Amino acid sequence: MDFENTAEFAHKLDVQDHLHDYRNRFHFPKYNGKEALYFTGNSLGLQPKKAKEAIEQELNDWAEFGVEGHFKAKNPWYAYHEMFTELLSKLVGAKYSEVAAMNSLTANLNMLLVSFYRPTAKKYKILCEAKAFPSDQYALESQAKLHEFNPIDAVVEIHPRAGEHIIRTEDILSKIEELGDELSLIMFGGVNYYTGQAFDMKEITEAGHKAGAYVGFDLAHAAGNLKLNLHDWDVDFACWCSYKYLNSGPGSVAGIYVREKHCQNINLPQLAGWWGHDKEKRFRMEKGFEPMATAERWQMSNAPVFSMAAHKVALDIFDEIGMAALCEKRDKLTGYLEFIIDEMNGKLEAGNKKLEIITPRDQNQRGCQLSIIAHEIGMELYNYLTENGVIADWREPDVLRMAPVPLYNSFEDVYRFGEILKSFFSR
Ligand SMILES: *Cc1c(COP(=O)(O)O)cnc(C)c1O
Repeated sequence: MDFENTAEFAHKLDVQDHLHDYRNRFHFPKYNGKEALYFTGNSLGLQPKKAKEAIEQELNDWAEFGVEGHFKAKNPWYAYHEMFTELLSKLVGAKYSEVAAMNSLTANLNMLLVSFYRPTAKKYKILCEAKAFPSDQYALESQAKLHEFNPIDAVVEIHPRAGEHIIRTEDILSKIEELGDELSLIMFGGVNYYTGQAFDMKEITEAGHKAGAYVGFDLAHAAGNLKLNLHDWDVDFACWCSYKYLNSGPGSVAGIYVREKHCQNINLPQLAGWWGHDKEKRFRMEKGFEPMATAERWQMSNAPVFSMAAHKVALDIFDEIGMAALCEKRDKLTGYLEFIIDEMNGKLEAGNKKLEIITPRDQNQRGCQLSIIAHEIGMELYNYLTENGVIADWREPDVLRMAPVPLYNSFEDVYRFGEILKSFFSR
């Protein structure tokens, strides 16, 4: 598409955008009394306006019914989590039996690793991307130690080639082959939080299975950002949080996917709690864990209703729109931001190109986030943007991350960011 860096052009795209009005369903934070330009939906998604009412409903039911709310609440709490079965299955491309909303992300990751990292003396290596999110690195490290392996030896990180920022799929595939029989598990981010690179989950899964390894993904930056087909890709397990692209509130309830055949495998080891026990027998309070045959078997506790109330409101919006329409707008909107940044860079003197987009240029290898190395001016640019009401995000050592979120960002948002960027360079 041929973009233009003018207010009229941005306005025209907004008028043509069927999803434009969805932004009115969210609260935008203020900066100096004015609505901020919010580009950090990849870090904390905005609050849906209906979240308050939904949480109030549960507070009211709690006040009115006390413990009886488990059955008498408008949305009875004993089965509250079941509201997410269909919503999550559509969101990540899974069967109903393969998804569940529960716990928090890193807790789920560790819990799933207990089931899917089953090393032996020979087959014990874990392959992950370099610069995985620190929490994931710690989880892998701790799992290796739990099995008495040295994490430096057991956890193999794959890096971009020298001078490059993204990891080539061919390099991932050849690493998998090279590790061969030693490879026990592949655990990647679906989208790397730092570079914004979306990995080819289908290819990686296929190659992992050929090597006899389990393959799982942390979808924190992919859920609500990419069109996912976990079941068709044959992925073994995945987990994600709901407070980034999924707009369900800080620390809100997370989600898991486990491939059906593993859910049904009674011999698969796991950590257990009463909410994963056979539903019909749960309240008999008897000894002897009998896992459900769905992803709910990993569910340890009863539902965190308040955070789930917000989660429901947010997921209903995704369900209304569908990921296909969101991804179509995403590519256009992110393409527009890319164009604005490239144009600014083009205007700077040769030898003085300050803005380097390290996220893949190929739309099939990214979501809506662009990561930009602002050479020499990093923090200075970031601070200037903040002072001018742009909420972006700075990640050490040198990356500015921006996510124009198709659900609530507009082409005008991106245009206005471009104007602020221009004013920075013409100071
Ligand atoms: C955001 C994020 C986390 C955060 O984990 P919490 O348990 O939700 O605090 C972990 N991993 C990845 C890849 C993330 O992007």
